[in-house]
Amino acid sequence: NNKEWQAAYSVIEQLENAGFEAVVVGGAVRDTILGRPAHDVDVATIAMPEEVKSIFNNTVDVGIQHGTVLVIVPAGPVEVTTYRTDGEYTDHRRPEEVQFVRSLKEDLQRRDFTMNAIAMRRDGSFVDFYGGRQDIEAGIIRAVGDAQIRFTEDALRMLRAVRFSAQLGFEIESETLQAMRNKAADISWIAKERIKAELDKLWIGKAVFNGIRELEESSLGNYLNGNFQANYWYEFNAQDKLLGWAYFALLQGDHWREVLGSYRLSNKEMAFVKAVLEALKALKNGWTNMDYFLYAQQELEAACYFAELRQLDVQMPQQSIHEIQTKLPIRHKRELIVNGTDLIKWSGQKGGPWVKEALQAMLEAVVNGKLENDRQQIKNWIEHYYFKKE
Ligand code: ATP
Ligand code: MG
Repeated sequence: NNKEWQAAYSVIEQLENAGFEAVVVGGAVRDTILGRPAHDVDVATIAMPEEVKSIFNNTVDVGIQHGTVLVIVPAGPVEVTTYRTDGEYTDHRRPEEVQFVRSLKEDLQRRDFTMNAIAMRRDGSFVDFYGGRQDIEAGIIRAVGDAQIRFTEDALRMLRAVRFSAQLGFEIESETLQAMRNKAADISWIAKERIKAELDKLWIGKAVFNGIRELEESSLGNYLNGNFQANYWYEFNAQDKLLGWAYFALLQGDHWREVLGSYRLSNKEMAFVKAVLEALKALKNGWTNMDYFLYAQQELEAACYFAELRQLDVQMPQQSIHEIQTKLPIRHKRELIVNGTDLIKWSGQKGGPWVKEALQAMLEAVVNGKLENDRQQIKNWIEHYYFKKE
């Protein structure tokens, strides 16, 4: 994104004009070298947070205790973080405190992987103390410094390694992988929400199979809730993280609710997964109009995709799901032209559970095209087929 780079460069320029060194760091540099579009263009600087705030008139303290100030320039917002080293790690998660330093080299040294520890100056030149560019070239994920120490400090880095291997198709370098095997159990220190955020990105990686294989090889997968089996992911490819969670759920069998629940999926996310699994089950029996009525297009498409991936012997829809849905007699319950009050009036009976049942029977008949959504016809139908049964 050009705007983000413009914004970052304008911030760097102003910092430099005020006498402070500043560079682009992190994912944006890595992605630029890879020729991938970068999303967040983060800036690191030798200036202290207070100095940054005095140079720009529009700033927000987003993470001032870690040295991060959001600077808002006309081209957009930029995260500016003071060079720092991380203090003591006591719980395998976050440093107790950070120390600001006047050295870019030290700042780069605290970063997780060599590919993420490259800085880029405004003139396009790189600062690359740890061989990051060479590792990117070779497609290697390598910890900065002693991998075992780095994973002991912060166990989330292990899952980040796996996630990056899924996003980029990179291999984890052997010492780094060995350190993961040694420290895998430490992943249980990490909050489920942070694990979920990594898995969200893993599922949509272009090389998700690669990532899950690294989960297996590092044994990290053994310490995460649920079954991660790379062979099932061989051909999986999705743009949407929810599709990943639904597929992961499918691989958990009857335990899917507990497993996904443990990753703190939202109710909305859980509802989507449940609908896809149900739609897939329904597909095995052959979808009727009622299934097209009950499930959303995205849910039905997901079910078809999974049936294809798992090579289920099912009858696939002959037209696009959108087309089929468009042609349904009605698309929503409220489009039914008759309601419960009509039924009670016509029957001369008191209301009760039967009203709901009759409405449901009517809905199914209308959706399946056996009955027109017309007051008179529904009245006849209900008199012949429903009240007779009572
Ligand atoms: P993405 O493209 O997913 O945003 P990213 O590399 O930018 O990837 P971020 O989480 O945005 O990842 O972090 C920005 C940078 O901060 C990383 O490139 C890395 O240098 C550093 N970093 C992030 N998380 C850690 C960590 N847990 N340990 C060490 N360094 C980290
Ligand atoms: Mg980033």
